[in-house]
Amino acid sequence: MSSITQLLRTAARPILQRGFSSKSAAGAQEAANGGFWFGMSDEQKEMVNLAKKFTREEIIPVAAQYDKTGEYPWPIIKKAWELGLLNNHIPEAVGGMDMSVLTSCLLAEEFAYGCTGIKTAMEASGLGQTPVILAGNLEQQKKYLGRLLEEPLVAAYGVTEPGAGSDVNGLKTTAVKKGDEYILNGNKMWITNGGVANWYFVLARTHPDPKAPASKAFTGFIVEREWAGVQPGRKEINMGQRCSDTRGITFEDVRIPKENVLLGEGEGFKIAMMTFDKTRPPVAAGAVGLAQRCLDESLKYALERKTFGQPIIAHQAVAFMLADMAIGIETARMAYIRSAWETDQGNRNSYFASIAKAHASDCANQIASNAVQIFGGNGFNTEYPVEKLMRDAKIYQIYEGTSQIQRLIISRQMVEKALKG
Ligand SMILES: Cc1cc2nc3c(=O)[nH]c(=O)nc-3n(C[C@H](O)[C@H](O)[C@H](O)COP(=O)(O)OP(=O)(O)OC[C@H]3O[C@@H](n4cnc5c(N)ncnc54)[C@H](O)[C@@H]3O)c2cc1C
Repeated sequence: MSSITQLLRTAARPILQRGFSSKSAAGAQEAANGGFWFGMSDEQKEMVNLAKKFTREEIIPVAAQYDKTGEYPWPIIKKAWELGLLNNHIPEAVGGMDMSVLTSCLLAEEFAYGCTGIKTAMEASGLGQTPVILAGNLEQQKKYLGRLLEEPLVAAYGVTEPGAGSDVNGLKTTAVKKGDEYILNGNKMWITNGGVANWYFVLARTHPDPKAPASKAFTGFIVEREWAGVQPGRKEINMGQRCSDTRGITFEDVRIPKENVLLGEGEGFKIAMMTFDKTRPPVAAGAVGLAQRCLDESLKYALERKTFGQPIIAHQAVAFMLADMAIGIETARMAYIRSAWETDQGNRNSYFASIAKAHASDCANQIASNAVQIFGGNGFNTEYPVEKLMRDAKIYQIYEGTSQIQRLIISRQMVEKALKG
């Protein structure tokens, strides 16, 4: 057993159980400091250090290899599960740790620093679980979330279809009620963990009127991978984050018992959208982790690489690129902290979550591109770390709502607020 495994085995579980189940700890600290609190609790510091160590010892050494093979990182998922680093937001009532969104963001940033492909594989299960955490009854939570605590299994979130991503109202998958069951038919696309998940959250049209508004048209279901008629497609070969498993899924006359409806018929759209308030902050944190890695690699290189008789960092054009990277990273980090903090306080945070997600994603892309620039010809080559970072960054502007859709959400909320006066 590696030293990190031993350390985490002994330390992580008690810390998680002790510290992060208490969401009020950060709030108490804020109050004691007379306002916003930018520090971490002792437990958070300890946890972040453990995540850093896990990243350094378990993720970074194998990241390039997983990028090359595109293999799903099961050994890392299993190790993280054993150590209690997965599924931490599952409610205490069903045996979980009920970790705050802020703490899970801090961990997401660390894992993403190591490899965002591996981090996405870890986090997509959380995306699948969140609708069940938000809208599942105790029975559903015990059965499906409990299963993930008992065994190293993962979940997935199935909303997007070949014909509709941003425009959720365009979904065509249907679930038709027949007695005590719903019959599910349709195709999902780009589902992360699509081929490896034990169960999926699936959004399907249940309203008979095709013109019904989104707020009434859709229902959220829990669908098991092993049920007859569930068929994941081939693993998609993507530009970056290559070890993350992305697939289409076909549903053909899949029989879903009515017990697997989340919240009630017609409630699906609301559940699917509310999920993003919890999951966009960790996505933003992932983009920050990637950007920080770009900066660290670039700074190191800029101090070593010499042109015209001096290290390239002595050229102001290079030094300012590094300064701009730092500006982007620090502001994006603040943005994800704010968006996570809002939701942990029980406030609606869609506006802040969209700002965090859009800003962090755009910064990560600019920063990754500039990292390649700083490395010059070496930056374009697979022997150096930054070309992978640039490929991995792009998806942050696309999944969990594109950067354009985030701006749509932000601007709509601004208009709503302005009209309210
Ligand atoms: C690797 C990967 C993993 C993914 N994982 C999941 C997953 O686990 N679960 C899941 O359900 N989905 C997942 N997705 C799907 C992802 O969320 C969608 O791809 C994304 O929401 C965009 O939808 P689309 O691809 O249909 O693009 P479109 O919606 O067709 O958009 C195309 C372009 O038009 C722009 N656009 C669209 N509408 C507007 C508008 N109103 N205003 C301005 N611009 C607009 C978009 O920003 C984009 O630039 C994943 C995708 C990828 C690539």
